This record gives sequence, structure tokens and C-alpha cells, in this order.
Amino acid sequence: MASSSPAPESLPADIDATKVASVQRRLLDWFDANGRDLPWRRTRDPYCILISEVMLQQTQVDRVTPYYHAFLERFPTLVALAEAPTAEVITAWAGLGYNRRAVNLQRTARAILDQHDGRFPETIEELRRLPGIGPYTAGAIACFAFEQPSAFLDTNMRRVLHRLYFGSDVPVPVVNEAAVLRIAIASVPPDNGWSWNQALIEFGALQCTARRPACVVCPLQSSCAAYPTVQSALAALPRGTRLVSDAPFTSSNRYYRGRVVDVLRELASTGAERSIEIRKLGATIRDGFSDDDVPWLYGLVTDLARDGLAVAAEESPAYDAGTDRPEDGTMPTLRVRLP
Ligand code: SF4
Repeated sequence: MASSSPAPESLPADIDATKVASVQRRLLDWFDANGRDLPWRRTRDPYCILISEVMLQQTQVDRVTPYYHAFLERFPTLVALAEAPTAEVITAWAGLGYNRRAVNLQRTARAILDQHDGRFPETIEELRRLPGIGPYTAGAIACFAFEQPSAFLDTNMRRVLHRLYFGSDVPVPVVNEAAVLRIAIASVPPDNGWSWNQALIEFGALQCTARRPACVVCPLQSSCAAYPTVQSALAALPRGTRLVSDAPFTSSNRYYRGRVVDVLRELASTGAERSIEIRKLGATIRDGFSDDDVPWLYGLVTDLARDGLAVAAEESPAYDAGTDRPEDGTMPTLRVRLP
């Protein structure tokens, strides 16, 4: 879970102000020397920042960069995104995964047009009220588009601050989210939040990584609470631990949700028949699909429809459309397509 908050005017008494100032200076120096020249770091356009931040959630920078350019070429403005057919937005998202993010992005664009006359909200409170905008994204937009000294945490930022101030985060963190956020809030320089938050993100991505922190050549070594123990704690992790987060999820519903959207996207782009019958869809996405699997796929498609990623309609309605299933328990014949 990510968090955000405006920065405070002064530090709480129990936070070591000397350490905070020293970490700030060295991390900003490190960023000056090592920060990558990324396209979303060259702009303060909130629409571009929004696109980049949503794309960067759970996706590596190298993968995001070409998608970022292509998406902005296809939908260059908030209005273009808001007014595009949803199927086109989902299609443009192909290859990035987590398709719900594409639908939420468009919902955000439409909400800004409808509720703010197209003016991008600037405060964290307003941003948080937009659909699909969580605490991290709200804080990131306030900081990276409007240069506010906001504090927010993603996985990398949380890990770096935890290690610096509380010790090793493995095998388990020693403090909770609120304690790390408190440090994040205390650490943001009021006049340089943009550079500080970019530096923290970059440091977590390049230097203080989850599995291989480069402690030996780290400029923050002398201030780091985790330095004495983190390498041995990582080495002591059971062999399988490394694999958990990378485990294939071919048996999970998330995998099949992605497969369904891939098939619908393919249909939408061919321009011929845009919808597919649910059993045919099942046979396309899963080997050995049988009638027994139809209720499972029906549930999956219903969830996708609820998330705005699919539309399901009966081929020839034989019962009250408000009823989820006919009384005899048989599954209706559905055709499924992108919205
Ligand atoms: S010394 Fe190691 S754990 Fe501490 S901040 Fe540097 S890279 Fe991260």
C-alpha cells in the first residue's frame, strides 16, 4: 500500500534533524551524479506525469518508456483520452499488464473534465477524490507536476527509508507504514521536494535495491541503520524466498483476466467480429476448457465488466436480465467484448 502527506513545517523532536539534513544532502548529491534522464522528468505537465506514474506502477522504467511515448502520441491530451472509445484505450495499453489501470486512467481524465472543467486539480485532497488515484499517485502528481513538497511512499521509497532509519527490512520490516511515512514527511526539503522524491525513487531503483543493495559503494553507508546487517539478512533468506514475488501466476485469476482482455483486444483490432461467445473464449484462453468451467469464466467476465474492462451481453435473453443466472442453473450464452 502506498501513502502520502504534505510536508511539515518543522521536525518532530524525536527525529534526528542532523541525520535528516545529512541524508538529504548526500542523497541529492548522489541523484545529481546518477539520476537518469527520463522523459517524465523533463516535464511538469500533470497529464504526462499522471500517465507516467500509472504506467510505472509495478512496471520497470525500461519497459514503460516506449509505451509512454506511444500512449501520449495516441492520446496527446486529457480531452483526447477522455473522449476516446474505452476499447481503444485498453488496446493502447496492450503489453503493459494490469489492464484495469488503463480504464481507471480514462475515468480519471473524464472526472477532471466533468468535475473540474478540465483543470487538473493541484492539491492532494482534490487529487485523492479522483477515481483510481491513490495516496502515492496523488502525492507524486502534487510533487512532480506542481512541485509541492509532498511526502509519499512506494515500495522502493519505503525500503530505502526503512533501511536508513530503522534497520534491515528483511526477513520482515521492523516498523510499520506509519513510522516510515513519518520519516518521509520529515525528510522532504520544503524548497526542493521534486528533486528529493525523485532522488529517493532513483536510489531505491539503482543503489538500494530489494535484493542486491550496493552497500559497499553506498554514499549513505555511515548513516544507514541497516548497513551492519542487511547483507547477511538477505543472504540468510531461504532460497525460495527470492522466487515468491516472481512466481508465474498461470493458475491465478489475474493471469486469466489478462488473457481474456488480450483476446478481446485482438478482436477489437481486427475490425471484424468484435465479440466472442463465452465458451469459445474459454477454449481460447485455457487448455482443456469444458462446460464445467463456464461458471468460473462467467464470474471472471462479470468481474471484468464491473471494472470497466469488458461488456457481456446475452446472445438471446431468455430470462430476466436482472437475474445473474437462470433458475435451472444453466449458464446463459454470453458474447463478450471490450467496452
Ligand atoms: S548502506 Fe546499503 S542498505 Fe544502507 S542505504 Fe546504502 S545501499 Fe541501502
